[in-house]
Amino acid sequence: MLHQAYDLLKKYNFRITPQRKAILQILHNYRGHHLETEDIYELLVEKEEKNKKIGLATVYRTMELFEKIGLVSRLPMENSPARYELISYDQSGHHHLICLKCREIQEINDENIQEFKEYILKDKDFKIADKSMKIYGYCSKCRNM
Ligand SMILES: [Zn+2]
Ligand SMILES: [Zn+2]
Repeated sequence: MLHQAYDLLKKYNFRITPQRKAILQILHNYRGHHLETEDIYELLVEKEEKNKKIGLATVYRTMELFEKIGLVSRLPMENSPARYELISYDQSGHHHLICLKCREIQEINDENIQEFKEYILKDKDFKIADKSMKIYGYCSKCRNM
């Protein structure tokens, strides 16, 4: 998995620096999570990799780079910072259910949404191309509050 990430960096002539490696490792360890840049930074600090000092600005720059070369996908949020996740090479894409209250994100597979896509295509003659739809609502925790 991370080898593919390294290959991609090499392909675009970016060096695999210890910082980039450490950030990729965090993203890999937290697969299925959707992290803000500051979360990634805090996780790096927690790991206390003293000889790999990374500033918050570096993490921001790295995430921009990773997005540009297609290593991570950026999930823009309303009224809060964007979240990132590694683009997985092994699955065709997934969608996100985002709670408007606690901002928890759940993932659903594209298969679950095929019927909806087919309906839109048939009924509206519109082909949905989005690989990562965002659906807003309220999670069970927040509805029961
Ligand atoms: Zn919630
Ligand atoms: Zn996701």
